[in-house]
Parts: sequence; structure tokens; C-alpha cells
Amino acid sequence: MAPSHGIVHIRVPCPECGWAEKRADRTKLVHLDEDGARFAAVCLDHGPYEIDVDPENDAYIDLATLYRNLVKERLLVRGDTTLRVMLKGGDWAFGSQLVDGALGVLDTPGARMPLRIFTPQVLAPTGVKLSKSLLRDKGTDALPSDVEPWMLDTTQWPGNTDHYVDALLWLVGELLTDPKHFFRSFTVKELGRLMNSRPADLGQRPRAHEMGIYKRYFDLIASGQKTTEIRVNDSSRKRLKEGDLLRFKCRDEEVLTRITRLARYADFDEMFERELISSVNPTASKTDQLRNIREIYPPEREALGVVAIGIELVTP
Ligand SMILES: [Zn+2]
Repeated sequence: MAPSHGIVHIRVPCPECGWAEKRADRTKLVHLDEDGARFAAVCLDHGPYEIDVDPENDAYIDLATLYRNLVKERLLVRGDTTLRVMLKGGDWAFGSQLVDGALGVLDTPGARMPLRIFTPQVLAPTGVKLSKSLLRDKGTDALPSDVEPWMLDTTQWPGNTDHYVDALLWLVGELLTDPKHFFRSFTVKELGRLMNSRPADLGQRPRAHEMGIYKRYFDLIASGQKTTEIRVNDSSRKRLKEGDLLRFKCRDEEVLTRITRLARYADFDEMFERELISSVNPTASKTDQLRNIREIYPPEREALGVVAIGIELVTP
């Protein structure tokens, strides 16, 4: 795991200030038995210190990236029914091969190997990963001319925080319209070009909740025929409030609505007894609608409860 130097990068933070050596140069294992381990290390400010690591105390070990990820992913695959996903920068894809090797040595079953999603890498014009340490060490003057200042220092964004968040969300949405674009690397120049092609009115657009929806229901909403949307009452639906804006999206189409009312029910049966069937879908019977919605939501999702969302079209 540490082939280039043979030193395991275990970092035990100084109890006074929390600082720890990056490469464990002066960190030594002084005692090890079945109850725990004692490490000696040296803080630049506070001098030598010793730390006991055992199952009883809360000593904090800061492990190097590979070990840390092995520990995290090994913990994640311990049996429960939750699907865990690791989200990592694209430059970690190669490091993951080493973690996979270690997980294999630990007899991790194939079905329990962690699922990982890698985000795009941002590259300097030379093709190397854009380095934050460059900015830290040499200041903004050292940056290549294609690097816009906000790319390494978000406080340099020419606009307020809302504009920045809107622009980033737009960029990710843009990359995900063709998911294979998400698994590539982007030079700062290309990233700047993409960002500058965002719609000019992005900052003025009303902020709205967003929901994806099937085309046939999208069309009914856009034509004003569907004024009640049905969802299970999961965590994002609990954030909806009467009067909020709600944007429905279907591929590259979208329609903006305002929430006129919210009604929560125990299940779909109770909901369909109380709601006007034709406002949910004017083209289908109650029996058909109940069957359709149960094809979308399995029983464990319905068990969260159901919310009927009254909507009206917002004209731009
Ligand atoms: Zn210290």
C-alpha cells in the first residue's frame, strides 16, 4: 500500500493543536499488543507527544488517502439494505483499483463491492490536474491565463452566491444531458467556455423546486389539464410549501408552476378517495390511475405516505 517509500502514513494529531505530520516522518510505533497501540510523534509547535489508540478511547487517527478509503468502503459494505454510493473526483479512479485489491484480500463478496461515481476532472491547459496548491503556494499571479480566478477561489466569482450556485447547477445539468460527458476531463478553457454559454437570464430566473416527470403527464400539466401532482412524501417532498414555485422537467422541456395547496395522506387509496380524480389525470379512470401509480412506487415507498400537490401554471 506504500510501495514508493515503505512508510505507512499513519497520522496521529497533536493533542494541543490537531496538527499532524503528512508523511509520518517522525511518527513511530512504540508499543503494540492485542489491546491497542501507542504512537510517538512530534508537533512543530508543541514538541514530542504520545497517543494511545485502542477500542476504548476516542483517539483520532488520520489515515493516508488509500487507507482511509479502504476503511470507509469496508464499513459501507457491512450488511444492511441501504445502497451506498461513493462520489469521488475522477483522479481517484486509479487509486480505487488499489482499494479494490485490498477489498478483495479482505474477501469482500463481489455483490458487496461499493458503487462509485467519479466526477469530471478539471485540467490546466498543459493537461495536468488543476492544482489548488499552486494557488496556495504561488498566489493568483502564477495561474495560467485560461484559469478564471473563481475556478480556484470561489470568493472571486463575479456575482453573488445565488448566481454562483445557479451557474454550477446549470453546468452539471448541461453535462448530464449526455451522461457520457460527465465521465470526462475538462480543461479550464473548455470549462470557461461552457460556463460562459449559460443563458444570460439565469440569474433572474425564479428559484423553484424541480421534479422530473413522464412525458404524458408533462403534457397534461403544460396544457393546464392536470392541476394535482401525486408523489410519495419523501424527504424532498417534505420541503415543499404552499406558494413555492415548482418546475417540472421532461428531457429538455420544462414548465413552471406554483404550489396552490398541499394535502398529505396515509396511502394512495385514501388520497384517491379525497382528491378529484380528473385533476390528477383527466384521461384515466380511478382504477387505472391507482394501478399506474403503484407500478411507479413500490409498497416501501408508498409507506412513506402520499402528498397531493395542487399546482397552477405560472406564465413567464
Ligand atoms: Zn501541536
